Amino acid sequence: MSTETLVPYDEALARYEPVLGIETHIELGTTTKMFCGCATEFGAEPNTQVCPVCLGMPGSLPVTNRAAIEGIIKIGLALNCTIVEWCRFARKNYFYPDMPKNFQISQYDEPLCIDGYLDVEVEGETYRVEIERVHMEEDTGKSLHVGGATGRIHGADFSLVDYNRAGIPLVEIVTKPIVATGDKAPLVARAYATELRELVRALGVSDVRMEQGSMRCDVNVSLMPKGASEWGTRSETKNVNSLRSVERAVRFEIERQAGVLDAGGRVIQETRHFQENTGSTTSGRSKEEAQDYRYFPEPDLVPMAPSREWVEQLRAGQPELPAARRARVTEEWGLAEKELRDIVNAGALDLIEDTIREGADPAAARKWWMNELSRRATEQGADLAELPVTPADVARVSGLVAEGTINDKLARQVFDGVLAGEGSPDEVVEKRGLKVVSDEGQLGTVIDEVIAANPDVADKIRGGKVAAAGALVGAVMKATRGQADAGRARELIIQKLTS
Ligand SMILES: [Zn+2]
Repeated sequence: MSTETLVPYDEALARYEPVLGIETHIELGTTTKMFCGCATEFGAEPNTQVCPVCLGMPGSLPVTNRAAIEGIIKIGLALNCTIVEWCRFARKNYFYPDMPKNFQISQYDEPLCIDGYLDVEVEGETYRVEIERVHMEEDTGKSLHVGGATGRIHGADFSLVDYNRAGIPLVEIVTKPIVATGDKAPLVARAYATELRELVRALGVSDVRMEQGSMRCDVNVSLMPKGASEWGTRSETKNVNSLRSVERAVRFEIERQAGVLDAGGRVIQETRHFQENTGSTTSGRSKEEAQDYRYFPEPDLVPMAPSREWVEQLRAGQPELPAARRARVTEEWGLAEKELRDIVNAGALDLIEDTIREGADPAAARKWWMNELSRRATEQGADLAELPVTPADVARVSGLVAEGTINDKLARQVFDGVLAGEGSPDEVVEKRGLKVVSDEGQLGTVIDEVIAANPDVADKIRGGKVAAAGALVGAVMKATRGQADAGRARELIIQKLTS
C-alpha cells in the first residue's frame, strides 16, 4: 500500500501549478489488422486471429492497411492537424512477451499528423488543448496472469498470451503540455478525453470503448511551484480506462506530488498504475527515454506519402463534428447551455435527433427521452440506448399524443408495453385498449355514475363552486383508468350540473 503523504487538493493548488500531457491510444475499427489480413473482432477465442506476419515469423513481410491510414488522416484533420506530405514508420525496439516481433512498428520523428488542437469546455470556459502529433502504430497482444489475487504478474502462478490484438491498428494522439489550467486541471483532462472520444466516434473510425480498451489514456502530470519558470518532473499514469478515472488520476497525482515536493523530495520520472478501487496511483517501472528504444526507420515498409488530392477528398467527406453539431442543435431546439449538457451527459443526443428525424417535434422528443425514459434507464441500471425502445417508437408515441389518441398518462402505459416487448406503440394501444375516451356518450355514462356516487360534491358545484369539479374529474379518471379526456370530462360535469 501507499505510504505517501497526500496534500489536500486546494492546498496543493495554492502552492503549485499543474502541467498536464495526455497520450491517447485508439484502436481503429478496421476489419483487418494494420500490416496483415487477420480479422480484428473483439472477444474471439485466444490466438485464432493470427498469421505469420502478426506473429513475427522470420521472413514474413508487413503491408500497410489503407483503411487504417484513411482513419488516422480523418482523425488528424478533425484535430486541425497538418497532414505531412511524406513520413515513415519506425521500429520501436523492446522486449515484451505480448509483442511477438520484439519490436513494435510505430512512428518516431516523422509522424503523419502534426500541430493540431482541440477546444474543450469546462464550466462554460473554453480551453484549447494543443496537439503535438498523431501517429500510426500497431497494438500489442494481451497477457493474462493466472493465479494471483490482483491479476498482475506478481503473485501469479503462470501467464498466458493472446496475440489476437497484436497488430491491430493503433493511433496515438499526443498533446503538447497543457498549462494554466490551475484547479481545473482534472476537469480539463476529463473534458479533453470526452471530447476526443466524441470526435472519433463521430468520424466512425473506432468504437472508442474505454471499458474494452479500444481507447485508453496515459496521463502525464507534473507540478511546479507557483511563479516558477521551470517545469517539474512528470509521472505517467498508464492505460487509464474510463473518463472518470482520467479526472481522478490527475487529482491524485497533484495531491501526491505536492506531498513529495513539500517534504523536500523529488518526483521520480516513472510510469504509474491507476487503482480503480482507491482512486490512487502506484509506482510502475522507471520511465524509459526515447533513446532506450533504439528507434530506426522500418526497413520492411515503404514511406507514406499521402497525395494532397486524397487528403482533400477525405477532408471533404468529413461528417459534422461534435462541437458544430452541439452548436446546431442548441440553436435548432432552443436549448439553454445546461439543457444541452444534460442531454449530452445522458447519452441522449443521437436518440433525440433520430426521434425528431422520425417526425416528432423537438420538445416532445426531448421530454420523453430525458424524463420518462431516462428514469426507467436509471431504474434498470442501463444506458438509454440499451432500452428496448427505438426513436421511431418514441416518435410514434408523441404523434399519438399530438393527435389526441392518447394523453401523457396513457403514453407512459404505452412505453410500459413497448419496454415489456408487447410490440409497437400502435399494437400496445390496441392490445391494452389505451385510447382516450372523449366520446360524449361513453364519458357521459361514467360522469352520471360519478355524480351519483358523490352527491355532496355535486351539490357544491350546483351551488356555484365550480372549482370542486376537480374532485369529480379525478373520480372519472380513476373510473376510466386514466383514459378519459380530462378537459372534456370537466366541461361535461359542469354542463350537467349548472345548466
Ligand atoms: Zn496476422
